[in-house]
Amino acid sequence: MTPATTFAGRKVALFGLGGSGLATARALIAGGANVAAWDDGEAGRARAREQGVEIVDLTSADWREFSALILSPGVPLTHPEPHWTVARAREAGVEVIGDIELFCRERQVKAPGAPFIAITGTNGKSTTTALIAHLLRSAGKDVQLGGNIGTPILDLEPPSETRIHVIECSSFQIDLTPSLAPSIGILINLTPDHIDRHGTMENYAAVKERLVAGADVALIGVDDAFSHAIGARLTERRREGQRVYPVSAARALDWGFFIEDRKALYREAGHGSEETETLGDLEGARTLRGAHNAQNAAFAAAVAWHCGLSCAEIARGLLTYPGLPHRMEEVGRRGRVVFVNDSKATNADAAEKALLSYDDIFWIAGGKAKEGGIEPLRPLFPRIAKAYLIGAAAQDFARTLEGAVTYEQCGTLDVAIARAAEEAALSEAREPVVLLSPACASYDQFANFEARGDAFRLLARELHAHAPIAGESL
Ligand code: ADP
Repeated sequence: MTPATTFAGRKVALFGLGGSGLATARALIAGGANVAAWDDGEAGRARAREQGVEIVDLTSADWREFSALILSPGVPLTHPEPHWTVARAREAGVEVIGDIELFCRERQVKAPGAPFIAITGTNGKSTTTALIAHLLRSAGKDVQLGGNIGTPILDLEPPSETRIHVIECSSFQIDLTPSLAPSIGILINLTPDHIDRHGTMENYAAVKERLVAGADVALIGVDDAFSHAIGARLTERRREGQRVYPVSAARALDWGFFIEDRKALYREAGHGSEETETLGDLEGARTLRGAHNAQNAAFAAAVAWHCGLSCAEIARGLLTYPGLPHRMEEVGRRGRVVFVNDSKATNADAAEKALLSYDDIFWIAGGKAKEGGIEPLRPLFPRIAKAYLIGAAAQDFARTLEGAVTYEQCGTLDVAIARAAEEAALSEAREPVVLLSPACASYDQFANFEARGDAFRLLARELHAHAPIAGESL
């Protein structure tokens, strides 16, 4: 744990008692603060009480007593309208911040030179964060991984000069972190998202920009218009000593970090192509298939390079990255047939990435539909050998597939995987893929996308146990 000592002896309000809220309360208490915690839900309050956190009804509290409101990132700060705690804090002149801000202040006071890598972007945050941590750990570095992925930041070990914090940051978290100044800041990409919480795309982009604007070394994607504009602006206005690097997975750059022929490359400004360094090769990196993962890998290789890893260490790390669960996760093989769990693909945009990454796809799709359905995926239909439809969206998806892709109504995941496995095994393709990439939320049949992916993994294994093919393994 990282005790948050910058509010020692002072009274702070804390709202939101989910996982990160509780971790924050513990860290503040360990750091000597007097915490008044509250949540609208009784379950959260009960959990906090069990852990010795004082519960104070903030609706009737005297807000002038508080030095800060520590807010959970899930709680609206600005849109659709500020949460009532935010309104009360503002009226009383109390600052509103989040757990990453507490970490930044702690780092500033205790170990200002501690390596702190912050990652944001619309897509690929978790993959890039986990990949960076993997590369650094594989090279023997002391790494703490968390933030918006896995462990809340204040549950991690404290910052120190010899320890690297690799932290995923959502836009909500950045919004609550006014003094965010990482040693390396990463902005992977920007496409419209969370507009309900930020009001406009411009506001959303401006929040993301703050993460790289405050960084000593800023690595910025140039493959989309919004990130590109941020990179250009930052390069022009950069602070003394700040370094800004462009990163691309779409084209070779005159200088910066980029992908060419599935190789991660670095070219120094003013140097020719003959002096380009090869940091790693994604050919053979099974867990980093697809152009989207090439983008994630370009960033991770750039960070590793800045942290002093050799090209050999980076190349090795890219090949040994185990991948994250539910994101094009290879859960088994049965003969030539590969089973891939991409349950995280809860919309067409995410499913597109998986469909682009494989040929000969036996596609399991459906669930609780998102607006627009699978119409945007039409150009990829030729890659699909057959679709196996499940859940509430099945009829709707069938209408879109009609005449373009053979499909079967399967109702549930267990039926779909059994049928897909059977037909994939009969296919003449070199490597048929049974792919769960539903392009839908899971709530109609599962608690969340993790439960859906876990069920797929289990079913893939059971299928093999009940009907093994001699000499082949799953
Ligand atoms: P995040 O943490 O930003 O949600 P993840 O790494 O968990 O991102 O990936 C979630 C999904 O987003 C993946 O399953 C994939 O479909 C898609 N994705 C991953 N990386 C990228 C990228 N660089 N660009 C676009 N889409 C991506």
